[in-house]
Amino acid sequence: MTSRYAEVAILAPLPRALSYLLPQTQADSVVPGVRVKVPLGRRHAVGVVVAVKAVAAEQDLTRLKAIDAVLDDEPLLTEPLLRFVERASQYYIHPFGLTLKTALPAGLGSLQGAPKILHTRVYRCSDTPTRLRGAVQQQIFSFIQQHQPVDLAVLRDHFSNPHPVLKRLESLGVVNSLEQESSRDPFGGVSVEDDRAPELSEQQLQAVAAVVEGLNAGQFQPFLLHGITGSGKTEVYLHSIDAVVAAGRQALVLVPEIALTPQLVARFRSRFEQQGVRIGVLHSGLSAAERYDMWRAIIRDEIAIVIGARSAVFAPLRRLGMIVVDEEHDDSYKQGEGFRYHGRDMALLRGQMEQVPVVLGSATPSLTSFYRMQQGALTGLSLPCRIGDRVLPEVTLIDMREAEVEDGLSQPLIDALTLRLERGEQSLLLLNRRGFSPFLLCRDCGGSYRCPNCDITLTWHRQAATLRCHYCDFVQTPQDSCPHCGGAAMEPEGMGTERLAAELSERFPTARIARMDRDSTAAKGAQQQLVTRMEAGDVDILVGTQMIAKGHDFGAVTLVGILDADAALNFPDFRAAERSFSLLAQVAGRAGRGDLKGEVLVQTYAPDSPVLECAVSHDYLRFVELELPMRQLLLYPPYGYLVNLVVSGLDRDAVSGCAERLAEQLMTAADVEVLGPAACPLYRLRNRYRMQILLKAQSRAALRILLNQSGQWRKLFPATVTLAIDVDPADMM
Ligand code: ADP
Ligand code: ZN
Repeated sequence: MTSRYAEVAILAPLPRALSYLLPQTQADSVVPGVRVKVPLGRRHAVGVVVAVKAVAAEQDLTRLKAIDAVLDDEPLLTEPLLRFVERASQYYIHPFGLTLKTALPAGLGSLQGAPKILHTRVYRCSDTPTRLRGAVQQQIFSFIQQHQPVDLAVLRDHFSNPHPVLKRLESLGVVNSLEQESSRDPFGGVSVEDDRAPELSEQQLQAVAAVVEGLNAGQFQPFLLHGITGSGKTEVYLHSIDAVVAAGRQALVLVPEIALTPQLVARFRSRFEQQGVRIGVLHSGLSAAERYDMWRAIIRDEIAIVIGARSAVFAPLRRLGMIVVDEEHDDSYKQGEGFRYHGRDMALLRGQMEQVPVVLGSATPSLTSFYRMQQGALTGLSLPCRIGDRVLPEVTLIDMREAEVEDGLSQPLIDALTLRLERGEQSLLLLNRRGFSPFLLCRDCGGSYRCPNCDITLTWHRQAATLRCHYCDFVQTPQDSCPHCGGAAMEPEGMGTERLAAELSERFPTARIARMDRDSTAAKGAQQQLVTRMEAGDVDILVGTQMIAKGHDFGAVTLVGILDADAALNFPDFRAAERSFSLLAQVAGRAGRGDLKGEVLVQTYAPDSPVLECAVSHDYLRFVELELPMRQLLLYPPYGYLVNLVVSGLDRDAVSGCAERLAEQLMTAADVEVLGPAACPLYRLRNRYRMQILLKAQSRAALRILLNQSGQWRKLFPATVTLAIDVDPADMM
């Protein structure tokens, strides 16, 4: 007779955990945190055991089914972590099981696709072939010959879908393979030098002391570390973490995905690895198997410091002592789809639940964090100067309405670039749009190519000779004539990074020009190569999207040019000003990090914009004073709380009908302002029509009461229309 049963959160959109009997065999391995296979209706599903409970006398278990099998021999999540994920799921009104699925390494949610543990296949040559058919066979064989033993993963990096060819080579008897423990280096082969900690400044010492005090008190204490780029924030993290590790605890460091450069990781490794402290990384550049591997190393307590992008907030550290959220203002902390959580806010929640200090660091704190600090909810720590008193770069606005402009470059910017080339100094140019041009325009009818799935024009990528949708990745090759009128003159209109780089090459034929954007860094290791070339001084001008604004420290850059400062400002969003200010400040911070003074030139059609004025004078506080009253007036965060409800589906009328009905229901809510329904700024995305209803309230409690009924709302909808709930939305696209 069973005296216990298990609560299982199925990794699927079910509102709550389900109860199951323990299996006949393996009953003892059913513990919280392991995955199990369970019957669900007529099928089977994977779930995570979230609790094992004793049966109460009056409980009738005869209708319960039993767990089929236990899938893990050790828990994947600790019990405190399970409780944290549950709280996160409640906060974002997202099903517990789906939240767990997001928290866990990818691939663990299905019965088929779980990543393999540790082992990979390694290839060697066994014979010299008399004759190989086809170039691919020959190439792969030579590659193995030169690099053997070769990991399958390495072959996958160099050849697309090498597996069939490898099988063929094996059957020809010229290659053999072996299952072997993975020898992959999660750090991508970057080696590190020993690094000595500098003597801290008075302000850095104070900041470290405050954090360490929080650590020793064993209390949740949130800090906001405000210091411009180069003021020594990372050094404060490193020293605080030193104390965490010395106390036998572990540290979690969150960074924006884009800032997770080998440079930052190398800095941590060079500081800690010589002391035998192991560092782990978690980010989207790892394969599913590598993530799974890292996850297990963490839960086995083999790792002392985890550095990762937003999802690392769920890393299963057992002795967490501190959390750092670097560049806390960065939007990449917010997940835009599915489980729409914010990594920074979840770090604060986790710190609260585990009673550890949380340090939010930024040169341009989010207005919300800054306001909370003013209100006393966060403790402010500030680093007001750059290390070595390096001066801030001089920022100049160029009025594009009056400037002489050639190929998108104003004369002053051209002169400044020329001067840098003469002096052998490096320049960065920010243009936050990838591709060659945002569209091909017909000279006759003004028509252009549009994405068939989204409400957007297709971007022209000249090198790849394709038109692409930057939202859904739709790709097509252009025809010879206009798709609307048959006219023969389709011409690129507007400028993206690819075009800018091409035009610079024509203008400065001897200059070495490189480009950093999502296209040029798509291949594994490409980003690192670019960084290495920059550091070695092999690049004169680096053109890039906002990728160049973050996380890099190039000593020899003395000029930063911002080509389209207005683009971010004109975004239809309440956070447009905040976003522009921080982007400008971040990219300006890239100039003059070495011994040379830096200069920043900003091209704009709105030189009178107060946001730009604040950026020019490096005046964050003035920006805050300008922006906060506007937020207050409109009851936007941090003064009010928002929830965005996005209704979407393939049928336009069904979507608007549902949105109308939902809005009507919501009207009766107390103390909540209901705005809409209105079409989303991106009305059609991946073939789905999208309407939104924005809920605004002065207190979270009022929104909570309303959201508690959200289970009912979905019942208003037919199966073809979906409702996404975005709590604390970061944008309204
Ligand atoms: P941030 O993270 O604010 O951009 P960093 O911590 O990276 O600043 O510091 C900028 C540079 O100054 C780094 O090269 C770092 O090694 C150096 N640095 C930081 N603190 C000190 C210090 N107290 N003395 C000397 N150099 C320092
Ligand atoms: Zn599209």
